[in-house]
Amino acid sequence: MIVCDNCETSQFLQIISSRSYYSNGEDIEEITEEYECTLCKSTGKYEWTEEDGPDVSGNVRLEDDQPRWPTPS
Ligand SMILES: [Zn+2]
Repeated sequence: MIVCDNCETSQFLQIISSRSYYSNGEDIEEITEEYECTLCKSTGKYEWTEEDGPDVSGNVRLEDDQPRWPTPS
């Protein structure tokens, strides 16, 4: 799951552009998605490649879908 780094939620994220590349018409080789947070106007990019896996840049971050235990602050 991709979340806004400022708001710490995916709730306000909007995909503003999305591209995928296919190596042979079937297998996805690369995905690029640009996100904007409609709440704080942060933008970020999510990229996934077959070689390197997922990568994010800008003001978004990748969170796994596992529930997080409360951590002591
Ligand atoms: Zn935000």
